[in-house]
Amino acid sequence: MTSSEFDFDTRQIHAGTKLDSDFGARLSPVYQTAGFVFDSFDDGEGRFNGTVEGQAYSRTDNPTNAAVARRLADLEGGIGGLLTSSGTAAIAATLNSLVVAGDHVLATDSLYEGTRTLFSNSFARQGVEVELISADAPDDVWKRAIRPTTKALFTETIPNPKNDVVDLERLAGIAHAGGFPLVVDNTVATPYLNRPIEHGADIVIHSTSKWLSGHGAVIGGVVIDSGTFDWSSQSARFPNIAVASNRGVASFVERFGRFAFLSYLKSVTALDYGPTLPATSAFLLLQGIETLSLRMDRHVANSLALAQWLEHHDEVAHVAYPGLVSDASYARAQKYLPQGAGAVVTFELAGGREAARAFIDSLQLISKMTHLGDVRTLAIHTGSTIHGHLTEDERLSRGITPGTIRLSVGLESVRDLRADLERALAAAATASASAGAVAGANAA
Ligand SMILES: *Cc1c(COP(=O)(O)O)cnc(C)c1O
Repeated sequence: MTSSEFDFDTRQIHAGTKLDSDFGARLSPVYQTAGFVFDSFDDGEGRFNGTVEGQAYSRTDNPTNAAVARRLADLEGGIGGLLTSSGTAAIAATLNSLVVAGDHVLATDSLYEGTRTLFSNSFARQGVEVELISADAPDDVWKRAIRPTTKALFTETIPNPKNDVVDLERLAGIAHAGGFPLVVDNTVATPYLNRPIEHGADIVIHSTSKWLSGHGAVIGGVVIDSGTFDWSSQSARFPNIAVASNRGVASFVERFGRFAFLSYLKSVTALDYGPTLPATSAFLLLQGIETLSLRMDRHVANSLALAQWLEHHDEVAHVAYPGLVSDASYARAQKYLPQGAGAVVTFELAGGREAARAFIDSLQLISKMTHLGDVRTLAIHTGSTIHGHLTEDERLSRGITPGTIRLSVGLESVRDLRADLERALAAAATASASAGAVAGANAA
């Protein structure tokens, strides 16, 4: 269905899918197949050269995946999308469609650690330099950083785990003045809380492993194209998309118009690298998407209640949650996240690492694990896990202190979550008191 006239709650259930014409199955069938039979010689030729509608091979073209990608593109306000095997694959495929060795990418410096690792390891080894800049750095700092080889500006709507919400409209202005697209990882906000394309983003990616799925059963990702970036005006920067091939094949822009980037992503990058999502995973993702708005409202309400309570707790030195009036990102969240500031609550235990050990070990209801967006509440001490490979100075420069705990707030009752946190905070208090006593005895 074409659905722009429907509300979000309706589109998350209906957009992009149609009733199965063979049996009338209400749910989108799972096309669990590697390949698709051609009707004839001519049909095979047509499916390969794109002149005949129809799939050929599930690496790039599976109807279940395509239906889910259409729904996500609809929710984000894009023209189309591609599901990928993970959020990481979505980021890698997007940037690999824009850069070659020797190129440069700008990114804001508050990022998911896995993305930073992709940039500093594999991209660096491929000869692609990703330069990290503070999102709120002055205009001249951003302007000076732009080179003829700069191919994208990458950011996260609500950066994981610091929650320091970015000014998307300003970043879009910087990217467009420089002649390259703004690529936004919208995982933590979800399209229910923020649609970056409405604020100038050109390409939106998600780890669909998180809130979009919600059940925590599958890994996945998606790339969504707004269709609005003017590739033809930047043909020197993006010859792979905007210039005819040296064999005389017309450019992607000439052949596909505003679908140029998406077509390149699907027919070159995904074809060559194969970051394919299994159709069963796409089906499970779809089951999550259909309840997204209901879950997010509850995630947000629980997160705000816990953040407000933690903020006044003696064992807690600081809470980073943009829904708190006291938070540095509060005003920006009011603008970009009017329906809620997400469901990551990051806080710092006053007692440092030993308090964090006691806190984590005392949790009973809350799961000790890495991951986000599950219906279950999850807690992690990021300094010893996600950020464990860094030096103390590197952690501090990312805002990760020895007492930093990241919560992914789930959908349980707030009363039960508070009781579990209260027990763990009491254990943290005991641990820091005895550590203090030992330190005091040693000093004496
Ligand atoms: C988890 C996450 C990713 C990576 O996604 P995977 O599906 O785990 O590969 C990327 N960005 C953000 C913000 C994330 O939270």
